Amino acid sequence: MTAKLIRGTEIAKAIQQELKEEVKALKDKHNIIPGLVTILVGENPASVSYVTGKQKTAKELGFFSIQDNQPADISQAQLLTLVDKYNKDPQIHGILVQLPLPKHIDENQVLLAINPDKDVDAFHPINVGKLMIGEASFYPCTPYGVQQMLIRSGVEMSGAEVVVVGRSNIVGKPISMMLVQKQKGANATVTMCHTGTKDLAEHTRRADILIVAAGRPKAVTADMVKDGAVVIDVGVNRIGMTAEGKAILCGDVDFEAVKEKASMITPVPGGVGPMTITMLMLNTANAAKAASGLK
Ligand code: NAP
Repeated sequence: MTAKLIRGTEIAKAIQQELKEEVKALKDKHNIIPGLVTILVGENPASVSYVTGKQKTAKELGFFSIQDNQPADISQAQLLTLVDKYNKDPQIHGILVQLPLPKHIDENQVLLAINPDKDVDAFHPINVGKLMIGEASFYPCTPYGVQQMLIRSGVEMSGAEVVVVGRSNIVGKPISMMLVQKQKGANATVTMCHTGTKDLAEHTRRADILIVAAGRPKAVTADMVKDGAVVIDVGVNRIGMTAEGKAILCGDVDFEAVKEKASMITPVPGGVGPMTITMLMLNTANAAKAASGLK
């Protein structure tokens, strides 16, 4: 069997098109323009590139957006004051502080300072807790993207055996928590694996849906995958450079071998990656609607 590709690039494009129309309608009918601020501290090249991508997408979709660059030596108190300024700004519905922050700043304190209603990354403990009890206002962007890819590819989650490799706070735990909820696009039986798992392959081989977020190149090989499984590869690993200086990427799954066993699989790049920014925009539009009592 050669697996059907779940192309995140195309699904993201479709969601962005829907969002663009919704943003136009929000403006025309309700005079609401979703507003996003991205706060970048320092000049870490990867962070600069992520923030640039987010700003570009926000502008393309018709959002009001601010790119707020701060020097690497900004103090914790100054950064908290800045977050508070945007908490109070009615034009801003989503606040994204690009991580990682410099070592002298306590990331948790900064994330805690964001108004949970504007926490479009969904990292605030209030939003983590609401997700846990099935009453989320926002879903964290990468897990939300994974769930949307599955839904839009017609994958039945209810009753499925889902195995997640990874238990990070930004991918493994939230996607597990989302898919176990007694809700549409969820209701699965979920197993979460990590480095303490005794026999990883024993678990992954049971999976109807295998979600891999380990940050280890090609950690999942074909012998670890059940025939006909749906495989979502969240991993992004830089394994070299092209002669032109472009990063060569691979996922956490041995794509070439696993695609011969799976029924559906996401490529890297072009899989989960493009979904993450799109879900950030969806969260921001939803925050704007909620702020006006529309949702
Ligand atoms: P992380 O914080 O490093 O967590 C990795 C998790 O995988 C940990 O829970 C770790 O277990 C587990 N793990 C690592 N090796 C394992 C193994 N051999 N067997 C079983 N479990 C193993 O990483 P993350 O932030 O979740 O990211 C995971 C990957 O997704 C990375 O490649 C990252 O670049 C990528 N990512 C992509 C996007 C996107 O937009 N596409 C977004 C976020 C992350 P322990 O807890 O026991 O250490």
